[in-house]
Amino acid sequence: MTDLSHFIDGSRVAGTSGRTADVFDPTAGTVAAQVPLASREEVDAAVASAKKAQPEWAAMNPQRRARVLLKFVELAHQNMDELAPLLSSEHGKTVPDAKGDWQRGLEVVEFCAGAPHLLKGEYSTGVGTGIDVYSIRQPLGVVAAITPFNFPAMIPLWKIGPALATGNAVVLKPSERDPSVPLRIAELFLEAGLPAGVLNVVNGDKDAVDALLEHDDVKAVGFVGSTPIAHYIYENAAKYGKRAQCFGGAKNHMIVMPDADLDHAADALIGAGYGSAGERCMAISVAVPVGQETADALVAKLTERIADLTVGPSLAEDSDYGPMVTAEAKQRVLDYIQIGIDEGAELAHDGRDLVVEGHEDGFFVGPVLFDNVTSDMRIYREEIFGPVLSIVRADDYEEALRLPTEHEYGNGVAIFTRDGDTARNFATRVETGMVGVNVPIPVPIAYYTFGGWKASGFGDLNQHGTDAFRFYTKTKTVTQSWPTGVREGASFVIPTMS
Ligand code: NAD
Repeated sequence: MTDLSHFIDGSRVAGTSGRTADVFDPTAGTVAAQVPLASREEVDAAVASAKKAQPEWAAMNPQRRARVLLKFVELAHQNMDELAPLLSSEHGKTVPDAKGDWQRGLEVVEFCAGAPHLLKGEYSTGVGTGIDVYSIRQPLGVVAAITPFNFPAMIPLWKIGPALATGNAVVLKPSERDPSVPLRIAELFLEAGLPAGVLNVVNGDKDAVDALLEHDDVKAVGFVGSTPIAHYIYENAAKYGKRAQCFGGAKNHMIVMPDADLDHAADALIGAGYGSAGERCMAISVAVPVGQETADALVAKLTERIADLTVGPSLAEDSDYGPMVTAEAKQRVLDYIQIGIDEGAELAHDGRDLVVEGHEDGFFVGPVLFDNVTSDMRIYREEIFGPVLSIVRADDYEEALRLPTEHEYGNGVAIFTRDGDTARNFATRVETGMVGVNVPIPVPIAYYTFGGWKASGFGDLNQHGTDAFRFYTKTKTVTQSWPTGVREGASFVIPTMS
């Protein structure tokens, strides 16, 4: 049994609150470690350390800060053989998928190495006689990142990369379910040359989150997790005068038009529906075939492929996907499957009886396929976050478009078609933040921005891309006039440039 720690002021420090949480080995179904849950005093210590370290970091020129980020990327790649299995062992996703989790985070850190360019302000000369105006972007100070269990490398890095590049210090409060990777991120940044205190990690639960929200020295909160908590953080950040961007849950649809390549669509659905045991905010959980003929053919192709899936240990090379993160997460999915059956959805494939030999206590759930799901069912309306794919049959394109458009969540959506006109119409009209055209998981690349709409995102700026540089900086606008200007004594009229 490992005792995990916090990471404050450049080193691992043991918890002092006396409260801990279990971290599991989800493949074995056993407790692997204890993570300390921080008290308000421990959060205060992390914020104080960050506040002390931040001015010197901010004073370093952005190119030098960027070099630390690039060194971190290099170290992460050098250590990937340790880092990816570490992620898999606590989360349950397979090692190739864990490498993807790291890679998508590292790409954002690489993008942030462009900080010298991305931090440039505006300049207008001669806006009035002898008057120039320019704007500069300055760091906020200490910022907090509160992240979910399902991407323990990628999402912390989406916050840390832009926050550090812009000269802020960060207090990261990662998920208490898989805290080892975030601790390694902090260690590797230190090794890359980040001064102690500029990135601190406090492990914890609601107590630590509330301490961060209420702390005067925390100027912004970046959150990713479930919608009720995202909303709570957004409300409270506003209450305490903080900037916030809070991303929530999802129910991502994939529309399959009659002209789509159905083998392509079925393969895409299998990967996007069941990959990572469905524990992705961009997983496809609803397939919407248009027309009964398309639906029948698609269901036949899906059931054929589901039969070939290998669900197994996260570290095994032949596993297509691994266990759920905790027994509680597994039970939640099993409860939803029962709800679907009770609501009258047709269980086209039942994964509940799956047993993985040698790992009988592991948190595995086999692939589940529901057919003839309707939009009033709870299994359609609510996020299940497991390997459960629902088929909602639509009669025509307009009905298919209406489903994701009217759904409470608006994270990602995809359409599979060979018709450019339909795809364009769909991308224009659908009410979701990220759209894939023949791409099932349209997570934008680092230099675009990531963010859902409606109940999937609260706040007005997205993650990564240029939005992140706006989120983590405040704009100062300077209007200057040097003494060759006109001297007419005091003016009691608001200055104009006429
Ligand atoms: P979660 O909401 O349970 O936890 C997220 C974070 O909030 C964790 O750090 C957790 O410790 C903290 N937290 C939990 N309960 C809290 C409370 N009552 N008060 C204050 N803080 C609290 O989410 P999760 O289960 O870790 O992650 C899965 C969820 O995240 C899914 O809903 C998924 O869709 C969503 N997600 C969204 C995105 C996105 O970009 N929109 C990305 C990844 C995951």
